[in-house]
Amino acid sequence: NKRWSLNGMTALVTGGTRGIGYSIIEELAEFGAIIHTCSRNQTELNERLKEWENKGYKVTGSVCDLSSREQREKLMETVSSNFQGKLNILVNNAGVSVGKVILEVDDEDMSYIRRNNFESTYNMSQLAHPLLKASGNGNIIFISSVSSSIALPVVSLYGAYKAAINQLTKNFACEWAKDNIRVNTVAPWLIRTHMIKPLEEYPAGREFLNSLLSRTPICRTGEPEEVSSLVAFLCLPAASYITGQIIYIDGGITVNAGG
Ligand code: NDP
Repeated sequence: NKRWSLNGMTALVTGGTRGIGYSIIEELAEFGAIIHTCSRNQTELNERLKEWENKGYKVTGSVCDLSSREQREKLMETVSSNFQGKLNILVNNAGVSVGKVILEVDDEDMSYIRRNNFESTYNMSQLAHPLLKASGNGNIIFISSVSSSIALPVVSLYGAYKAAINQLTKNFACEWAKDNIRVNTVAPWLIRTHMIKPLEEYPAGREFLNSLLSRTPICRTGEPEEVSSLVAFLCLPAASYITGQIIYIDGGITVNAGG
């Protein structure tokens, strides 16, 4: 059934060596997509590529620090030559976080979060535009966060740039609908990856995590697979009338005003 398949479609998933990005690659590959990914760590990237090859997935990869414009441009040239100038799916997944109370945030943190989470995502989408348009059926997925819309302690900066990404979803969706490009965002709550690991490693962190989970109707952290399934769905022809949406994957936290 073509409506539920990504067979032969091409995808670029940023930050695929771990966590949510890793799971997105496996999910898209299971639906038949051909994928390119990137990360900053060559050794880890090579290990993953070998794993995927053994599983029969069609995944290539290159090292790229997405905070560098020059490296982003080089990455997109590689993608363009791998996929003959056409790209169906861009998943802007890579991201970093800084956990600090407001008065401790400094200029370096500001630049780090802006460059890695916002400028990279914005510019990668610009660079991908000709390829997405040429495919005749393009999709962009942004990965935002629940912290984009509720006040989560110590991530004011991260949350603000994720909120900016929520807004991009709407502008990009409207401006590029004429080019047959759909743009949607998934906004996860606490997903069990490297990013929230530090919280689990010391008592005060675990206590904080447990207090957040105690207010989450589905009272547990989410798994990367619970995010990648929605990303894949949004890219399918079956989702062809969905654009400009921000969908929370959050165990119910954003709708819970109870105890
Ligand atoms: P991880 O830290 O587990 O993985 C991040 C991936 O991105 C790694 O592959 C990492 O590789 C890569 N990466 C990070 N920065 C760059 C960069 N500048 N250039 C290239 N690659 C980069 O994080 P998650 O899987 O948890 O996060 C994925 C996305 O989901 C992020 O956008 C995050 O903000 C978002 N998110 C996560 C939540 C969670 O609870 N985990 C909740 C809400 C949103 P390397 O470091 O080797 O470069």
